[in-house]
Amino acid sequence: MIDLRSDTVTKPSLAMRQAMFDAEVGDDVYGEDPTVNHLEARAAEIVGKEAALFIPTGTMGNTIGLKLLTNHGQEIIADSRAHVVDWELSMTAWFSGCQVRTIESTDGILTWEQIRRLIKPITFNAAPTGAITLENTHNMGGGRFYPQETIDEICDGAHDLGVPVHMDGARVFNAAAASGRSVREISAKVDTITFCLSKALGAPMGSILAGSRQLMDKARLLRKRLGGGMRQAGVLAAAGLIALEQGPAELATDHANARFIASELSKIDSLRVLRAETNIVVFDVSGTGLTPREISARLKERGVLINGFNDRMMRALTHRDVNREQCATATAELAAIVAPARNRAPVLQ
Ligand SMILES: *Cc1c(COP(=O)(O)O)cnc(C)c1O
Repeated sequence: MIDLRSDTVTKPSLAMRQAMFDAEVGDDVYGEDPTVNHLEARAAEIVGKEAALFIPTGTMGNTIGLKLLTNHGQEIIADSRAHVVDWELSMTAWFSGCQVRTIESTDGILTWEQIRRLIKPITFNAAPTGAITLENTHNMGGGRFYPQETIDEICDGAHDLGVPVHMDGARVFNAAAASGRSVREISAKVDTITFCLSKALGAPMGSILAGSRQLMDKARLLRKRLGGGMRQAGVLAAAGLIALEQGPAELATDHANARFIASELSKIDSLRVLRAETNIVVFDVSGTGLTPREISARLKERGVLINGFNDRMMRALTHRDVNREQCATATAELAAIVAPARNRAPVLQ
């Protein structure tokens, strides 16, 4: 199977499995797992924050990050298609006790001007703004990344008004690879950032939350509260370290493969490619006469996995476990499925 459903499907490399086998471990709830401590120190260094915390999932990272920055009864500003809004079981409400004020956006990239108008001071009627969250790269927005000036402007403006900023950087290393900036630079002004080791970086599981020492001390308690206090987690951190050290350099290949897929798909008349900025290719199949569900099913019969995410759009993600040749096969199979559809109406001569 050529699996382009997500970059979460990457499997740990041999080197990762060996490192897991060899990992020195201890009880991380006591802070005694040397491999976890090493991973957290390296992650903090790489993102340029005082401290970092190894957590099981990106969802938990966003959940803790937003809880750290807010109080119950406040509002969190997010774009309308944010992962925290659509795919995290409303943890902002369940755990943080906050409602989300969304800003309509097709590509997920917000501006300070849009956010500024929604920031509310404390009054007797409105919920005050607790935090802003930025998703970078933007998943449903087709892998778009924030211009650096925009991040900095949002952070400066928000901080002037006393509002902290969280970055859902599940794929922030993709943003770094695409923009040519370091993650440290990208996240310099945000208060907390979470990123996934388990997606394109290739670890079997795990994410990182980073921020100030004080915030991360509190985050450790919240992680425990959510059931994320892990014991000999060094076996996982060992794979995470390889993902962190070696994964980022390989993302450019995924991006080139995504551009390749986009260029192949754009040769198919009935498809419209919307975006391929990083490792996510979003394309509209409404011109094929087939639904994404039908296309997915037919592709699967031909050994290719690509999912739709609404009634007209499909999304293919490149990652370390698909090479160029497999991308070529996948696009050829897709062409074979959708090409006849556009000729459905008989041509009368
Ligand atoms: C994948 C993802 C997450 C976290 O997902 P988990 O499956 O909980 O690790 C968070 N935000 C975005 C934008 C994502 O794509």
